[in-house]
Amino acid sequence: MFRLFSRISGFLSGSRAGLDALLDAVYRQALSDLVRMVRNGRLQREQWERAPWDVRARALSAALFLADVVSSPQADEVARQIVSTVPPDEAEELLLGNRYGYTWKDEIPHTCWRCGRADGVWRRVFSPPPNLPAAYTWRYGILENHVPLCSACYNFAFPADEEIRLLWGLAVWGVRFDGWRWLHGQFSAGRRPTWDKEQFPLWPTHAGITSWRGGAGVVEIHYPTLWVLRRTRLHRDAARTLLARFPLHGKRGRKRPLLRAIAEGKGQD
Ligand SMILES: [Zn+2]
Repeated sequence: MFRLFSRISGFLSGSRAGLDALLDAVYRQALSDLVRMVRNGRLQREQWERAPWDVRARALSAALFLADVVSSPQADEVARQIVSTVPPDEAEELLLGNRYGYTWKDEIPHTCWRCGRADGVWRRVFSPPPNLPAAYTWRYGILENHVPLCSACYNFAFPADEEIRLLWGLAVWGVRFDGWRWLHGQFSAGRRPTWDKEQFPLWPTHAGITSWRGGAGVVEIHYPTLWVLRRTRLHRDAARTLLARFPLHGKRGRKRPLLRAIAEGKGQD
């Protein structure tokens, strides 16, 4: 991912070679995923069914791209086969995942939110329900479904039950967690809500939040400063519950991000 960002930086600073290298890498990967799934002009359905969401997403994007710009009957036919294999909502999810479901974990500071150590690791809050189609699973890789904790704090204060993990999500992400929590609830109940995903890829505005700062989900806000996120009493109470349930004594305790989130979130109701 660092290399990818270096290439983007190269392009933004005026380097045509940076853009060429970036496009070359992206399309080479997508085309190779597509080629592996097609034999004699036919989509190999077994290969498709076995592939994880990101491979399917790249293959679908490559097929649509080829059908659009190459305009050959074979490219059209492969694209048609893929599109007819995938339900429309899942195709939309794959294309969204291809755009927004990228790796970000190394790019964002991961200070442990319990003890303040710098070597935290991003831990997943919710897991996909078993009946969720693979096309939707990229959503469980988004930032708002993760909280940074070091190994010791993870083992002590991040149990398997979802109740405590939910508190961590609320404390770390504030109102940005509300939209994601709502969507996970929908998935868990077997529902697949629809909305204007082009404009709001992560969750709809009616899920309790109305602005991008609240978390309606655009790519420009994928790199947040966690302290400035809005927190209501609900989110601050989640942080207080975690502090009480998993106390940390001594000097280091005063620099805990959880305390800072409570202090800087005051007056934001
Ligand atoms: Zn820690």
